[in-house]
Parts: sequence; C-alpha cells; structure tokens
Amino acid sequence: MKTLGILGGMSWESTVSYYKLLNEGVRDKLGGLHSCRMIMHSVDFAPFAEQMGQDDWESVTAGLIQAAKSVEAGGSDALIIATNTMHKAADEIQSELNIPLLHMADAIAGGAKKTGASKLGLLGTAFTMEQDFLSRPLKEKYGLDVIVPDCEERAMVHRTIFDELCCGRMMDATRAGYVKIIEKMVEQGAETVVLGCTEIGLLVRPEDVSVPLIDTVRAHVDLALDYVL
Ligand code: GLU
Repeated sequence: MKTLGILGGMSWESTVSYYKLLNEGVRDKLGGLHSCRMIMHSVDFAPFAEQMGQDDWESVTAGLIQAAKSVEAGGSDALIIATNTMHKAADEIQSELNIPLLHMADAIAGGAKKTGASKLGLLGTAFTMEQDFLSRPLKEKYGLDVIVPDCEERAMVHRTIFDELCCGRMMDATRAGYVKIIEKMVEQGAETVVLGCTEIGLLVRPEDVSVPLIDTVRAHVDLALDYVL
C-alpha cells in the first residue's frame, strides 16, 4: 500500500468523513486490521477563511503550499486536498511538489461515469460555482457540461457552507433550501448533481432528492483508494 498525503481541516467536519471512508475502504479491500497509511496536515481553517473572504489568494496558496510540502517531506506518495474550493490553487501546489496531486475534477468525472451523466449541476462555495477551476477540467478533459444555481441561490449556499455546515450545524430549513435548488437544476437538465463542497454530503442525503448525487468526499476517497491500493 502507498502512503496518502492529505491537506485537511477545511473544514475538519468533512476531514472526519475522509478519514473514516479511507480507513473503511482499505479494510473492505484488504480485510482484518488493515487501515489506510496516511499523513495528514490539518490546518487551522479560520485564517484561511479570512484570507479567502478578503480575496487574498496569494496568502491562501502560500499556506497550502507550505502544508503540502510538509506532507510530501513526511513520505507521502500522493496528495489530496480535502476540499473543492482549495483546488483553485491546485496547479500552483502541484508545481511545487514531486508527488502527484489527485485532483477533485478527476474524482467528479469518475462519479459521473458511474451515473452516466453528461450534464452536471454543481453546488459549492461561490468560488467553486462562479470560477472555472473545476468546471473547466470537467469540460476540457471529460466533455462534461456544468450548470450552477442562480445568483441568489449561490449566495445562500455559500453563506450556509461557512456559517452552518463548516461549524457542524445541519439545519432542516437549510436542507430544504438545498433540495429546492437541486430540483430546480434537475428541471434545467442536470442529470446528476455534484455536492461540490465537502460538507454538503453531511446535510443532503441521496434519499432527499430525485436525482443521483456525487458526494465529492466519497468520489475523492474512491480516487485516492485506487491510487494507494
Ligand atoms: N469544504 C468546502 C469545499 O469543499 C469549503 C471550505 C473551503 O473553502 O475549503 O469547498
């Protein structure tokens, strides 16, 4: 088994899910007392969130590169960034490393292959929905089209990710709002909806909606497990 490097803590609520699913995946495959070999750098998210809020991506990227280098120096064979949004800095991080970065877009494409979708709805932070660091590789590398909610809906999703989900607060009213937005994207042609923020899978469950979902934590873990095993 190879050793997986993880940049976590963004937020730690979803890093817990990564940790559990990675270990369960290795146990299911290898049995007995086997568990996932990994080296994690779990950051203090508050300063990163503040820098993002100020659009200071230079500081965010510098902090992530420093953390990624520590994970590489610890002996990891590959790196995952356990958040969608921070893939905005993926190219810069990869260029500073000698180990491969297992990219979230490849994980999402793997999930889309399973559902057979060619048009995806995408939920996530405003950065993820409004910029193209995920939608561009999905289109260019895999021919997948991505649609996003309207402006007001994006603002609601973004706000609740930081004010509620990343703080571990899962509210029924917020879930109902997300379900409405998901169903609207289905009406607009989305064949599968990407929970493109690693905390959304803690709020919205497959049984809440009429469409297949790609939980990016599960999809990313699947990609990582393929690599390490
Ligand atoms: N975990 C979230 C994501 O997957 C948001 C937190 C962040 O900004 O990294 O995008």
